[in-house]
Amino acid sequence: MSKPKKKPLAGLSDAPRRPATLAPAAPCPCGRPETYRDCCATFHEGRATAPTAERLMRSRYSAFAVGDAAYLRRTWHPTTRPATLDLEPAQRWTGLDILGTTSGTAFHTEGTVEFRAHYSLHGVAGSQYEHSRFVREGGEWVYLDALPDA
Ligand SMILES: [Zn+2]
Repeated sequence: MSKPKKKPLAGLSDAPRRPATLAPAAPCPCGRPETYRDCCATFHEGRATAPTAERLMRSRYSAFAVGDAAYLRRTWHPTTRPATLDLEPAQRWTGLDILGTTSGTAFHTEGTVEFRAHYSLHGVAGSQYEHSRFVREGGEWVYLDALPDA
């Protein structure tokens, strides 16, 4: 008895979570002058951990852009992490502005990143501002919460 022959679908085995529109050699969504593969994908794929709170924040923005909800949950502090996380598939993330940072370097255990993330939803442009708090948990930066608006 022979097994039914199935033709493997091109690209399906590689990275099913990543939209096909974002090739590894594409510019990273986070805005750094590197390819996605050499920038935030190293964190998304677990090849490295973000060295600073800002890099973690950028990689989380990129995770929104590529639809990697698992990475977002993984880099969320256990005390504030949502039980489930549903990303809006129609929301396209179009750019990230880092407005300021405090602490958050290799020498710190906490830090903040102030940013504005731009998106378009059903053809309407919008943006989201947040002043986020990050802490180092077990040596790795994780997102804690947002500071209240000043
Ligand atoms: Zn990046």
